[in-house]
Amino acid sequence: MDLIRLENLCKNYQRGDLEIPVLRGVSLTVKRGELVALVGASGSGKSTLMNILGCLDRPTSGSYQFAGKEIASVSADERANLRNSKIGFVFQNFNLLPRTSALNNVRMPLDYSPAHPSDADSKQHSERMLQIVGLADRMDHEPAALSGGQQQRVAIARSLINRPELLLADEPTGNLDSHTAEEVLRMLQRLNEEEGLTVIIVTHDEGVARHVKRIIRMKDGVIVEEGAPANSSANKTDAAKLPPPPKSASFADFSSLKHAARTVRMSLGALRRNVMRSALTCLGIIIGVAAVIAMMEIGGGSSHAIQQAIASLGASVIQIDSIDVSVGGVSTGRGGSMDMTIDDAEALRRECGALQNVAPSVDSWGQVVSGNKNWRPGRILGSTPDYLAVRNWPVVEGEPFTSDDVRSSSAVCLIGQTVAEKLFGSDSPIGKELRLRGVALKVVGLLAHKGANVMGSDQDDFLLAPLTTVKYRIMGVRQATQPGAATTTTTFSPSQIYVGQQPPLYPPASPNQAINNPQTTRFADLDDVWVAAGSPDNIPLAIKQISGVLRDRHHIQPGHLDDFRIRDWTEMSQTFASTSRVMTNLLLVVALISLIVGGVGIMNIMLVSVTERTREIGIRMAVGARARDILRQFLVEALVLCLAGGLAGIVLGRTISIIVTHILHWATMTSVPAIVAAVAVSASVGIIFGYYPAWKASRLDPIQALRYE
Ligand code: ADP
Ligand code: MG
Repeated sequence: MDLIRLENLCKNYQRGDLEIPVLRGVSLTVKRGELVALVGASGSGKSTLMNILGCLDRPTSGSYQFAGKEIASVSADERANLRNSKIGFVFQNFNLLPRTSALNNVRMPLDYSPAHPSDADSKQHSERMLQIVGLADRMDHEPAALSGGQQQRVAIARSLINRPELLLADEPTGNLDSHTAEEVLRMLQRLNEEEGLTVIIVTHDEGVARHVKRIIRMKDGVIVEEGAPANSSANKTDAAKLPPPPKSASFADFSSLKHAARTVRMSLGALRRNVMRSALTCLGIIIGVAAVIAMMEIGGGSSHAIQQAIASLGASVIQIDSIDVSVGGVSTGRGGSMDMTIDDAEALRRECGALQNVAPSVDSWGQVVSGNKNWRPGRILGSTPDYLAVRNWPVVEGEPFTSDDVRSSSAVCLIGQTVAEKLFGSDSPIGKELRLRGVALKVVGLLAHKGANVMGSDQDDFLLAPLTTVKYRIMGVRQATQPGAATTTTTFSPSQIYVGQQPPLYPPASPNQAINNPQTTRFADLDDVWVAAGSPDNIPLAIKQISGVLRDRHHIQPGHLDDFRIRDWTEMSQTFASTSRVMTNLLLVVALISLIVGGVGIMNIMLVSVTERTREIGIRMAVGARARDILRQFLVEALVLCLAGGLAGIVLGRTISIIVTHILHWATMTSVPAIVAAVAVSASVGIIFGYYPAWKASRLDPIQALRYE
């Protein structure tokens, strides 16, 4: 039966507008088991014909039937399969993959074999093939470490590994010395005789042609002379010298998995062959991912610190104090307007439903002394136990002072962690005595650690005493200044205290007291009122209520300015938080841009790599790689590069954030979402930017890729 049937085959090459005919009507049949020599002068079209026979190239016109099948009508994938398992091709210049061991060169067709043999089988079979061509001791050698003859034997082993029906050898001895050439030719001859392999050898050397039984002569693209077909050794049964290619032993379900594993192995091999370039390619991704991770961790740390500072403020704290107002363009100065008074505070407590706690306070300042130590606290406040509730500030040691302490102006105080440390070191401050402006106060409680507020000042540098104690004992007495605070006539008797109702916190003076003691013990003005709105959502309503009550009490006409100021600390802190978030996001965008730049870098290098590896692609296609195999390989390479870069970037980013924490003492926070996002982004960068080069590689024509210089 005819293995090859050519009818009027033509091939023209396009050169500019010119069509150059190279094959001008070649008709030929080759039977199974024949050994044919194709001879002719250089440029007569032998290689062109061989490439068409080998399904590497396509004719311009005419018909080529291989094993009864019209090649013009089969798909590119089917042609790849023919190249892989039916046709072996031996090239003049060997076309081995550089920097790849002889063994891996030989097994390459098995990687693209539709049978999907297992890795172990492939390796074993490749070793057998190398033994057959006499290279058992050269399996791990790379082509550069092999002689020309050895390289050609590797190429022959590769062409035979899938036990093809046709072996095409295009000037296989052209680059060899005469002795080695003889050896190679004898090997081909033996394969024909003992294996029944159909062999076509191209040569321009008449001496070589003497080895064969049938000679076809070509001149200027046509067959000019045909030697009589010699007694063909066709249909001879296999002498079992060439082992059959390994068959798939696995279930079909696993084959795609194994295929993927093989693609990854090939990609890793390709990357290993160019470690330096791979590392440089990764650099963009490494920097981008490291920047993203470091940004996220530092940004996360700072926003966490700000969140903590906000939480340390208390449950939606609002601070109210009095301010100067101008009347008719004249500033009235402090006292010119009405100060906040206890009555104001009580009115707020009574009338503002949106408030959870109300704590009036007065400020003080001065040095505190205990034993031989002294300290000037950052803030000294006189207030009520409600202050602790407003600020959500627990006492960790001892007890808070009580409303009774406020009523009786007890000489007690609570101190923050910083004050405790400055005055008492590591000793417990509870029960100790300290002096503030000459007044002895007993420390009854130690406040919990709060840290810095959003402004950065230390909230633990703090002393809190009952409002009345600070007002009467420490700061001296100030009289009510506002006319509205008329003396009340309420009398206050012990019977009232004990009827089950709590006496008012700030007992007003009775008329008798007022007369007997002109230095009234009542006080009116406060520095601040602290209130808690409970939740941030409640704040606008709370502010509206506070403003209404105070304007009413201070008799402020509509259109006139408030003589008080309402400060919403939560909002202020959130402004800080959002500013820092904006900064973090801005930096993140910069980091993402660098990731994209890294992706573009990968695309560039992959494109260069596709160009540089055009021959490799050609060789892979020549041994049966389909377009999609090439696409997959380059895509996986890009993906592996990006993922490796991503992992290195994560390590680098983490290192940066750890260094920042240790050297700059910035808060950082490990961000798992950032790490996940970094991996996802680098993988997508790999796929997106790797796709175009991979697609470009897969679109290459086998013969053009092989010819690429
Ligand atoms: P040989 O018989 O020496 O193997 P070839 O088949 O390689 O000859 O080339 C036959 C002719 O076709 C030559 O004249 C060559 O210049 C021309 N040729 C080969 N390849 C191309 C090509 N890709 N483009 C244009 N002309 C080509
Ligand atoms: Mg040639």
